[in-house]
Formats: sequence, C-alpha cells, structure tokens
Amino acid sequence: MLFTKVLRSGVQAGLRCQSTSAQASAKFAAATSKPGHGGFSFELTDQQKEFQELSRKFAREEIVPAAPGYDKSGEYPFPLIKRAWELGLINGHIPEDCGGMGLGIFDACIITEELAYGCTGVQTAIEANYLGQMPVIIAGNDAQQKKYLGRMTEEPLMCAYCVTEPGAGSDVAGIMTRAVRKGDDYVINGQKMWITNGGKANWYFLLARTEADPKCPASKAFTGFIVDADTPGLQPGRKELNMGQRCSDTRGITFEDVVVPKENVLIGEGAGFKIAMGAFDKTRPPVAAGATGLAQRALDEATKYALERKTFGSLIAEHQAVSFILAEMAMKVELARMAYQRSAWEVDLGHRNTYYASIAKAFAGDIANQCASDAVQIFGGNGFNSEYPVEKLMRDAKIYQIYEGTAQIQRLIISREHLGKYKQ
Ligand SMILES: Cc1cc2nc3c(=O)[nH]c(=O)nc-3n(C[C@H](O)[C@H](O)[C@H](O)COP(=O)(O)OP(=O)(O)OC[C@H]3O[C@@H](n4cnc5c(N)ncnc54)[C@H](O)[C@@H]3O)c2cc1C
Repeated sequence: MLFTKVLRSGVQAGLRCQSTSAQASAKFAAATSKPGHGGFSFELTDQQKEFQELSRKFAREEIVPAAPGYDKSGEYPFPLIKRAWELGLINGHIPEDCGGMGLGIFDACIITEELAYGCTGVQTAIEANYLGQMPVIIAGNDAQQKKYLGRMTEEPLMCAYCVTEPGAGSDVAGIMTRAVRKGDDYVINGQKMWITNGGKANWYFLLARTEADPKCPASKAFTGFIVDADTPGLQPGRKELNMGQRCSDTRGITFEDVVVPKENVLIGEGAGFKIAMGAFDKTRPPVAAGATGLAQRALDEATKYALERKTFGSLIAEHQAVSFILAEMAMKVELARMAYQRSAWEVDLGHRNTYYASIAKAFAGDIANQCASDAVQIFGGNGFNSEYPVEKLMRDAKIYQIYEGTAQIQRLIISREHLGKYKQ
C-alpha cells in the first residue's frame, strides 16, 4: 500500500524522471538534506521514512529472492539496478542542476542500508557509482558535471572509480599509471586492478601520475581525469571470481596510449590525490551503511532460525548461550548504525568528518563480519550450507574490511586524527 502511495507521489515522480523534475527535486532535497536544524534527533523526516520504506520493500520483495541466483551465476544484476534507478534509489545525490535530487549523504545511507540488506553484491555495484561520481561532484566544473553526471540521470548508466593498481592499493601514492601532456591532450598508460563496475562503466574517474620526479609530494604528483569507457586503448580485463559479492563486476583495466582531452582534468594538474582521497569522506558513510545492512540481515536470519529450531526440547533462542549471541549482534548493529549516521550527519552539515567516516567504516566492516559469522554459528550445520542464506553473508561481509581502505588503514586514519587533537 505504502509502496503504491510512494510510487504515485510527487517525490517518486521526481525520482523516476530524474532529469525533468528539478522543482520537485529541489523541494525534496530541501526537506531531507539539511539535518540538525531542530537539534539532536533520531527522528527521520517523513520523506526519509518514505525512502526507507520504498528501498526496504524493493530490497525484500525483489532483491532478496533474486540474490542467491546472482550469487551462483555471478551474472551482473542489471535488471535490479535498472529497477532501482527507475524507483529513484540510485543517483539521488547528483546535483539538481544536473537533473539529480541533490540529496545528502545521510539520505543515501538510509537507502544503502536497505539495499544491502537484500544483497551487498547488488549494493556494491550501485555503491561503485557513488564512488565514481563523487570526485566529479566534489571537484568537477559545471560542464564536466552536466556532461558526465547529467547523462546518468537520463538512463541507468554505471561508472567506476579507477585508482588501485596491481602494485598499490593502500599505498595510493605508489600508483604507476602515467599521464603525459601532449598539446591539448594527455596520453595515459598503465594498469588498474580491482575496479568495481570495471566492465560495465560508461566512464571512469582515473587517478594517474603526471609528475615524473619521484620526490614530488603526493599532493602535487597526481591528476584526476574523467575517461570515457569507449576511448581507444582502454581495455577491461576478465571479470574476477571473488569470494563474495559475486555478482558485482570487478576487473583489471589496461590503459595503452589512451588519449584524454585536457577538458577532462578535474580542477587541474596535480590536484588528483586530494580529490581521490577527499571523495572517501562522502563514500565511507554509505559503505558503513552497507555493512550495517548486511549485519542486520544476519541478525534477522539468525533470530528467525533461533525461534524455529529446537534442541533438548527447547527453542535454541531459549538457551541463554544463543540468546546472548543475538544480544551481542543486536548491540553491534545498533552501534554501527549510529556510527554511519553520525559520520553522514557531520559531512552533510559541511563539517570535516574524516575521523567519524573511518570509525563508521572500520566498525561496521568488523561487525558485519562478526554478525555474519555468529549467524552461521546459530544455524549450526545448516549455516555452512548454501541452501541457507547465512554462508553467503559471511562470504559477502569480508570485503567490507578491505575495499575503500582496509580495516588497518582506517585505524591508521583514526589514530592520526585522534592524536592530532592532542598535539595541537
Ligand atoms: C572486490 C574489490 C573491489 C574493489 N573495488 C575497487 C574500486 O572500485 N576502485 C579501486 O580503486 N579499488 C578497488 N578495490 C581495491 C581496494 O581498495 C584495495 O584492495 C584495498 O585498498 C587494499 O589494497 P591492496 O589490495 O593493494 O592491499 P595492500 O595495500 O597490499 O595491503 C595488504 C595488507 O597490508 C595491510 N597494510 C598495508 N599498509 C599498511 C599500513 N601502513 N599499516 C598497517 N597495515 C597495512 C592492509 O591492511 C592489508 O591487510 C577493490 C578491491 C576488491 C577486492
């Protein structure tokens, strides 16, 4: 019922016809994207609640039943992505003057948690769009934003964030891909690795080294480019077969004499490192929200099972050892949710949120793994079997401790930010 109501509402029309309803979008964005004006509150706005309901219904009715099939086949879940796009659950944060909704990170997180509940493979494919778009949102000029973000509101296109290389992941300053200026163009050569949406993207955010001097500081040595996927010399590799989130498309990408016009440089030569790292303040809260969605799913599945399975004449939920596992899981889910919401709230208010974003990402990534493992434990032997939903959760959870900065790198950032406050 609510689903139908939301679908028919002006909000939904604004979402579905993403490029033609700037007025509805502006109104909605104004109502949802400015948290904190009424002081401290855990209450979502009515429209945030509608978004939550819409994404929850979509995830539970359409993603959950399809997810095991996509997990087995590894097929890219484009029908689900297209449907999410039609419902307005993708690209909401694209600025209004590019045809988007200009939503805040908090709003994006609310939707992300729900989609992740359904399947984090699907959610990661969607999330990679945020990650690819974010450098253009924070650093793109008007023409770049209209051209590359605008087209994503007109049809369900994917993009990707192309930074990691075979030899450098955590140590971003160690990337070797080179961009050399030739007249009005740059010529790019190099190899990228582990790029989500690598074979599906319409365009890429690419980080490449423009400064030959190895002593040049990272803050000046790299440049961010927007690269069209059909540029000659750009070649995605085979789809990688990963432990979990198997329907997400992860690939290496080769750049061989790829010519990119200087109009596609973000801000200017040397600004790339800060742009690439700055995007994480806005994308780590949604990644943490995704991990929270997975943990909530693990808690729900484990609780339902514990209320059905009997041993020694009692439901296993009635054994204190099992109910305490559920209690621990519930504590972790609640705290992870609060952590991602805090980090999103901070950045939506324009505060520097690096500290909170890393806390949320690290904590939610860890508890997703703990909760998924606990759910498998509660399912006993059935938990180890692919006919039941929780072994997939355990495989899917692991990546939350690896991508967008590993669990160790988050701790490095948190400790640096923490100690910095004492050293001032
Ligand atoms: C499925 C998947 C999707 C991905 N999607 C993308 C994408 O879309 N775009 C993109 O650019 N990248 C992507 N990545 C790459 C991902 O961000 C990197 O794998 C990650 O940052 C870690 O880098 P690495 O694999 O090179 O590990 P390394 O950096 O080699 O790290 C290896 C280990 O050493 C630890 N370590 C490294 N340095 C330190 C340190 N200073 N202190 C303490 N511990 C340290 C790490 O935590 C890790 O445990 C993806 C990866 C995967 C697997």
